Amino acid sequence: MRLFISAMILPAMFALAPADDDYFQQRVSYKIKVDLDPTTARLSGTEAIDYYNNSPDTLHEVYFHLYFNAFQAGSYLDRQFQEEGDYSIASTSERDIGFVNIDLLKNDGAQVKDHAIDNTIMRVPLVHPLPPGDSTYFYTEFTSQIPAQGFRAARSGNHFDVAQWYPKPAVYDRYGWHIDQYLSNGEFYGEYGDFDVEITMPDSFIIAHCGTLKNEEEVFGARLPSPVGDSVIVDALKYIRADSAPAESDLQKAVTSAAQQGKGSTLQNVQNLKIWKIRASNIHDFAFCADPQFMIDICRYGDLIIKSYYTPEVIRHWQRKAVDYTRRAIRFYSESCFPWPYDQYSTVVAAVSSGGMEYPDLTMISGSYSADNPYDHDLEATIAHEVGHAWFYGILGFNETAEAFLDEGLTSFFTIKYMENHYGRFENDLTYEHRWQKELLPNGNYRNEAQTKYIEKALTGTEDPLATPSEIFRDWWSYYVSSYHKAASVYFMLQFAMGDDKFDKFIDALFQRWAFKHPYFSNFQDLAEEIHGGDLDWFFHQWFHTTWTLDYALESVRSVKADSGGWTGFNNAIRIKNNGRCIAPLKLTVYYKDTLADTLTIPVSVWQKGVDSFDTTVFFESRPSKVTIDSDLMLADINRLNNSSSHLPPVTFQFMVPKFVYPKNHIEYLVDSYRIAHRPTAWYNSVGGIKLGYAFDGAYLEYFKRLRFNAALGIQSGHFDYAAAFDNALVPSDPRFSYFVASKELEGRGRQAIGARFESLDPQDPRMTQAIFAVQRNYLFDSAYLYGDSWSPGNVVTADLSFSRRFDQRFGVIILQGSLSNTTFGSDYQFRRAAAGLAISVEGVGVGKTNLQMKLGRADGDIPSQRRFSLSTADSYDIWDSPLFRSRGTLPDRWKDDGHLFKPGGAGLSGYLRQGSSGARLISVGISNDLPSPRLPFKIPVLTRQMANIRPQFYFAGGRVWSPADTADDFLYEAGLVVTYEVPFLGLLFNECRLSLHLPLWISKPQPDEDNLEWRWAFSITS
Ligand SMILES: [Zn+2]
Repeated sequence: MRLFISAMILPAMFALAPADDDYFQQRVSYKIKVDLDPTTARLSGTEAIDYYNNSPDTLHEVYFHLYFNAFQAGSYLDRQFQEEGDYSIASTSERDIGFVNIDLLKNDGAQVKDHAIDNTIMRVPLVHPLPPGDSTYFYTEFTSQIPAQGFRAARSGNHFDVAQWYPKPAVYDRYGWHIDQYLSNGEFYGEYGDFDVEITMPDSFIIAHCGTLKNEEEVFGARLPSPVGDSVIVDALKYIRADSAPAESDLQKAVTSAAQQGKGSTLQNVQNLKIWKIRASNIHDFAFCADPQFMIDICRYGDLIIKSYYTPEVIRHWQRKAVDYTRRAIRFYSESCFPWPYDQYSTVVAAVSSGGMEYPDLTMISGSYSADNPYDHDLEATIAHEVGHAWFYGILGFNETAEAFLDEGLTSFFTIKYMENHYGRFENDLTYEHRWQKELLPNGNYRNEAQTKYIEKALTGTEDPLATPSEIFRDWWSYYVSSYHKAASVYFMLQFAMGDDKFDKFIDALFQRWAFKHPYFSNFQDLAEEIHGGDLDWFFHQWFHTTWTLDYALESVRSVKADSGGWTGFNNAIRIKNNGRCIAPLKLTVYYKDTLADTLTIPVSVWQKGVDSFDTTVFFESRPSKVTIDSDLMLADINRLNNSSSHLPPVTFQFMVPKFVYPKNHIEYLVDSYRIAHRPTAWYNSVGGIKLGYAFDGAYLEYFKRLRFNAALGIQSGHFDYAAAFDNALVPSDPRFSYFVASKELEGRGRQAIGARFESLDPQDPRMTQAIFAVQRNYLFDSAYLYGDSWSPGNVVTADLSFSRRFDQRFGVIILQGSLSNTTFGSDYQFRRAAAGLAISVEGVGVGKTNLQMKLGRADGDIPSQRRFSLSTADSYDIWDSPLFRSRGTLPDRWKDDGHLFKPGGAGLSGYLRQGSSGARLISVGISNDLPSPRLPFKIPVLTRQMANIRPQFYFAGGRVWSPADTADDFLYEAGLVVTYEVPFLGLLFNECRLSLHLPLWISKPQPDEDNLEWRWAFSITS
C-alpha cells in the first residue's frame, strides 16, 4: 500500500512541474480543546477546523492524518517494521500503543457517518462540494493515546512529548492529495494555519508548547520574569514561587534545582486542574511537552523570547547552556537565512527516540544527548540542527515525506556551517574538553564526518539516489546517510559550483519567494538556475537522480624548463583524470617546496564534453613540489589518495589516548588522508614479565587498506611478540567483501593466516551475517605460557570456513553458527572438525530473556589438544584470543588451578571444571532465564545504579564430551545460577568488562568427595 500511494503521487510530481503562477495553498485554522490525563496518557477533546479551499478545484472530500494509529499492531508501520525484522510495535502492550479515535465527526453542522479510516489516513466525504474560494467547517470529538515510543512523540513516566496527536488535514497542493501513511522514514507535510489550543492538565504540570501562552499569569500565578539584554534567567519559575523578581545578579548566575522545592504527585492533584490557553499563527504543526519537573530558562533575541525546558537529570548539560545554544542558533539562521518571524522559541528535553525532533517554534531534544554524549558540542550541534528546521521545514514548508533531502539536507548543511562559523572548520576545539587534549587527540569536524559517512556508503554500492521519496529507500541507513550526510555534502558542492555570492543570493531568494509556502525540488532547482544565470542541470541530475560518484585523480605533472616572454621557469604539463561519472569544477593548488603559491581553476565546461581526462600546460617560475586537486576538500571525492602529485598518499598520525585515560577518545576517519592511530602498550604475565610495546592502526576511511601492527618486548624475558594484520576490500565498490593476511607470535604461540571475509556493514541489518574462509597455520613455540596440556606441539595447518548469522524474529533473536576445518599441506596432524551452534533468545516468557542453546561438534583423525572440544571451558583457540586468559600469570595461577577461574565455552558445564574433560565429540543443550536485578529498599547514591548492572540468571544444562573409544555413557547435567556484573570502567582497560559468578549448585555426577547438591563456585570475565 505504501508503495502504491507513493508511486501514484510521486512520478506525477517530478514529471509535471507547474509554473509558479499555478501555485496555490490551502489554509486550515484550528480550535482545539483537549484534556491530557497523565495516568492514562490519553488526550480527549474537541477540534473545530475551518478549511479554506484556495485551489482551482472543487473538492468533494478532505483527507485527515491520524498519525498515532501507526503505533499499533497491524498498522502499515508495523508491517514495514516486521518486514525489516523489527517486532517492537507488534509486541507493544495495549497501554503503550498509540491511537486516535474519532468519537464524533461533523461537517458544516451535519454528522458525517460515511468517513473511512485506513489506519493513519481518514477520508471524509464533504456534505456539500467545496468550490474554489470557499471554506468548510469540521467539528470532531476525539480521543487519542500517546504511544510510549512514537519516535517523534513519546512519553516516559510523567513526561509527555505530544506531537501528531490531533486529526490533521492532509495537504492538498498542485500535485493533489498527499495521503501518505505514516511510516518510519518520512516525516510530515502540513497546511499553514492558525491554532487556538486549550490544554487542561493537573496543575502540577508545566507545559512547553508551540505558539504564545495567552494566560501566563493565570497558569504560573504571575508573569514570567523578563530577561534584559543578553542575560539568561535561570530557573525562572523559582522567582514566581518565591513571589519575587529576579535580582540583577541572579539573572547571571546558575542556581540549583527546582525539583528540590517539592511538587505534589500527579495523582494527588488530579482535582486541581489548570487550563493552558495558547495561540499560534501561520504554522503548520502544533506540538507540546508536559512534565511536572520542568525548569525554565529564559533569554531573548531582540523581541523574541527563547526558553529552554529541562528536568533535574540534565541540569549539568542543559541549565543556561541549552537556552543560550538556542539563541546562538536563532541568531545564525536569522542572519544567514531569514529573520525569525514568530514570538517565541522553546527547546525542550524530551523522551523522543530520535536525537531531536523539530516542530515549528519548538524542538524536542532527546535527554540522552546530555546523559551519554561526551561533548557539549553534540548537544549544541543537535540544537543547532533542530532550530535550523524552524527554517527548513517550519518557514519553508517542504514536503518532508517526499523530499527529505531538502529539509534534512539543508538543515544538516546549515548545521555544519553554524558549527564552522562558531568554532572554525579544520582547527577547532569541537572534540576537546581540556587543553592537553588538543595536543594529543584527533580532531573531528562536522563536514569531514558528513563526507566520510556519504563516501563510505557510496563505496558499498548500496546507495539510493538523493531524490528518492523517504519510503522508497532500501532501508533506514540508506535514507539517513543520503538525506543528511550526502545531501549536506552536495549543498557544499552547489555552493562551490555557484560561488559564495550567488549561493547566498539563492538562499535569500529561496526564503523571499517561498517563506510560508510549499516549495518542491523543482522550484529549488529552477531558482538556483535563475540566480546562477545558467544551466545547473548537470549538477542536479548527477547528484539528485543518480548514485554516480566523483573521483578526480591527478595523474601526472611533468615540468620542463622553459622561457616565457623573457621569464625563465617551467612549463608544467598537468594531466587530470576523471575516474567517476560525476563532474565538477576543480581547483588545483600548486605548492613550491611545500609553501602554497598558486591556485588555478578548471571550469566544469571542460568535463561537460564527456572527456575522461584533461591536459593543461601551465607556466610557473619555479618547479612545483606538489600539485593537489581540491585541497580545500569542497568535493565529495570518493578517493582522495589519488588527488595529489606526490608519490606517497597523504598520511595523518593520531595519538590514541588509551580509553582508561580518556574514555571519550574516539577515532576519526579522515576523508583526505590515510590515518594512522598509534599508542604505546604495556602488559604483564608471570612468564614473560612486563612487556612494553607500541601499536599502530592504519586505515583509509573505515574499511580500506587497514593495517594493524603491534609489537612488544618482554623486559625480563627479552622475548619479542608481535601481531600484524592487513585487510582491504576485495573490490572498492563493496567493502563487505574483504581479504586479509595476518601473522602473529604471541605468548608462546604463533599463527599465520590468509583469507577472505564477508561481513554485513549496515549497523541496522536485522540479518547480520559473517562468513570467513581462511587458511591458517598455528604452532606452539614456548609451552611455558600454557595451563596444563592445552596445546599440542607442532604445526596445525587448516583450511577453515566459519559462518554466523543473526535473525531478528518477532519473539526474539536466533543466532546460527557453524565452522568446518580440514587439515592441509604442511600440518603435523591430520584431522577434520565440524562444529555448529544454535542460540535462541526469547523475550517476554519470564522476567527478562529466556535463552536456549544447542551445540554439536565432531572431529575425526589425529586431533591435537587445542582442537578438541571441552566440557567446561572455551576451546584453546578462543582462549588464546583472550588477553586475560591465554597465559599463566596474567591473573593468579592458583585461581585457575583450583578451578575457580575459567573462560566459559565448550559444552558450558562449569560444574565439572575440577573434573576437566575434552574429546572429539560434543553435544550440549542449555536453557537459562533472566531473574530480576536485586534492588535496594531505599536509594543509595552510586549503589542503587550499580545494582541494575547485576543480572542474575537461572540455568539448566546438559551435555557430553567424549571420544569414540569411550564406552561409558556420561551424559551430564547441572543446574544453578550465574550472576553477572558489568564492572564500570573495566572495559576501558581490557576488552572484557563482565564479571560472572557461576554457581553450579546441582550437578548430576559429582566427584566422590562431593554431593550432587553442594556449594560450588567459579568466576569468569567476558566481554
Ligand atoms: Zn533533522
